[in-house]
Amino acid sequence: MNTISSKTDIKELTKDELILWLKYKDIKSYRANQILKWIYLRQADTFDVMTDVKKEIRKQLSQHFYIHRLEKARVETSQDGSKKYLFKLSDGKYVESVLIPEKDYYTLCISSQVGCAQGCLFCLTAKGGFIRNLTKGEIIAQVRDVAYDIGGSKRLTNIVMMGMGEPLANFSNVVGAINIITDKDVGLGFSSRRMTVSTSGLVPKLSDLGRETTVNLAISLNATEDKTRDMLMPINRKYPIESLLNACAQYPLMPRRKITFEYILLKGINDSEEDAKRLVRLLKPIRAKINLIPFNTYENSKFECPEESVILHFKDILNKNNYTAIIRHSKGQDISAACGQLRANMIL
Ligand code: SAH
Ligand code: SF4
Repeated sequence: MNTISSKTDIKELTKDELILWLKYKDIKSYRANQILKWIYLRQADTFDVMTDVKKEIRKQLSQHFYIHRLEKARVETSQDGSKKYLFKLSDGKYVESVLIPEKDYYTLCISSQVGCAQGCLFCLTAKGGFIRNLTKGEIIAQVRDVAYDIGGSKRLTNIVMMGMGEPLANFSNVVGAINIITDKDVGLGFSSRRMTVSTSGLVPKLSDLGRETTVNLAISLNATEDKTRDMLMPINRKYPIESLLNACAQYPLMPRRKITFEYILLKGINDSEEDAKRLVRLLKPIRAKINLIPFNTYENSKFECPEESVILHFKDILNKNNYTAIIRHSKGQDISAACGQLRANMIL
């Protein structure tokens, strides 16, 4: 938890916890929305500016809490317009967020952990191992601070949790952050239809996510056979493809929504015609769409990206079988925007 001496970052509290605290101080509960609006809608950094909150209440708030803003260690803009933020946390650790411009809105890719414990072989974030979970406040702050930074010129509407870390391994902080980010009464008010959580497949947590939120689900499948997935993603040894896809088939999907399956394409490993056909068969029982992600290479990586023709052929097979399959090149390759690269430049 973020603390300055004995004070707590107020973003660490849920709205209910804030209401409880206010109640304990004999302050009416409607003040909670008022205070949170100042933080998330008006981007207040101190309690002093909250002019419609009584002075006495502001004083009490500032005795117990502070409003943390992330320190921007580096911001880089790519030729394709994407912007990468490297944030330095209060304990000196780093995380990344990537802002991606679409036609008339922005998508923000945020992190859930410093590093990652899942050890996927192709992933740079995995190389530095797991450092720690991000707090709820740190997850929310990536959205709040980037929204502030872009000054509303283009609207930030979509959030994807596809940055560093495995969101479902930091479940309560991730869900707590989603609750604030999607709370219409406090200012950020993102639509849960426009939020996506991406997971490597922590099967027991999937039903919890479906029960506690209505965000979109993305699964990093990345292989169609256990022997390949076991090698690429160690989590598969615990929760093999069949158990993962069974959990997906039972996922409480909202009407008209689909689960996104991410499939990183690695030359000679998972990019064959047989793989594409197997993928079609595997996904049959699920309302699914597919994002094909050509491998984004980095220094000393063991893998290569397939030829363009192989990627297109793979996509074609999926499309011919009535799947929406989109090729998603990593954004900002000139500024090392692939998952974990900017941070890796700082620490590895
Ligand atoms: N831990 C979660 C979310 C973060 S990773 C998960 O695994 O889903 C987000 C996505 O980036 C995953 O689909 C992963 O397969 C992909 N990824 C990781 N390293 C990559 C690389 N070098 N090139 C392309 N995609 C990569
Ligand atoms: Fe972690 Fe996702 Fe990278 Fe795997 S792909 S190591 S789960 S961040």
